[in-house]
Formats: sequence, structure tokens, C-alpha cells
Amino acid sequence: MFSTFSATFSHLSSVVVDEVRSDGGGIALTARTVTREAACPGCGSVSGRVHGGYRRRLADLAAAGRQVVVDLLVRRFLCPAAECPRRTFVEQVDGLTERFARRTSLLRRSLEKIALALAGRPGARLAAHLAMPTSANSLLRLVRRLPDRQVGAAPRVLGIDELP
Ligand SMILES: [Zn+2]
Repeated sequence: MFSTFSATFSHLSSVVVDEVRSDGGGIALTARTVTREAACPGCGSVSGRVHGGYRRRLADLAAAGRQVVVDLLVRRFLCPAAECPRRTFVEQVDGLTERFARRTSLLRRSLEKIALALAGRPGARLAAHLAMPTSANSLLRLVRRLPDRQVGAAPRVLGIDELP
């Protein structure tokens, strides 16, 4: 059972999932990081000195048509470099968390695909249907943040006067 869980939720392989529970109509996972050290994003120094932590609530890709949230306990580390302007920093989990983001990297990538295919409101309607609710404006923001090369590859919707 648990190996099936790990294979399905492979983006959570670097954290420990303590609990999986029903949360309203969705699924909530309680997880925590277990690495001993983290690198400061300001100067690159590696630190093992934990200076507290807090829970981040991240929206994740839907599972079996149900909305998924990850309650992730992340830690704040003290940067060991005296000259570094950041005295503390919060660890990020590769492939899972991004600075300031309230969704997992996996969900962000899926929403980007929807945004590129359908743009704002139609995209938001599809995302809601797929149990990954978001706003039209959020989808447009995701597209604006993409490198130009990815946006250029998106299918273009033809106007009526462009049809042969
Ligand atoms: Zn630093």
C-alpha cells in the first residue's frame, strides 16, 4: 500500500508524509521535511542550524478527482555566513515548493498547460472541473511568467476571419 502511495505521489518523495486524511471533499496530506541541512539562497552557504519552522499549506495536483492540499512543515535556518545579508532563510523542497508560492511545482506546471491551451476564464472553468480551482487572473499570471519560448509554442486560437 505504501509503495503505491510513494509511486503515485513521487513529488513528495523527499518529505515524510505523516497523515493522509479526508478534508471536506478533498484530501489533506500532513508532511514535513527531514533533511539536516539547507543551502542559503542568498550566499549558498550550507546550514544545519534550525531557527524555528512553520506550516505551509500548498495546493497540489488533484487525485482521483479530489482536491489535494499538502500541509508542509518547513524550517527556517540560520545562515552561517557573517557577511550574508540574510540572517535566516526558509528551506525549499526541490520539485515541491517554490518561494512565496501557495501551490506545488507539479500543480503549477499543470495549470500552466491549461493556461497555455485555454487562457483565462475557460482555463479556470476546466481547472475547477479537474478539482484544481484557480482564477482566470492567476492563470494569466502564470503565462506571463513563462519564458517566451514556451508561450510561442502554444496553440493559437483562430479568429473567425482567419478561417480558410
Ligand atoms: Zn547566506
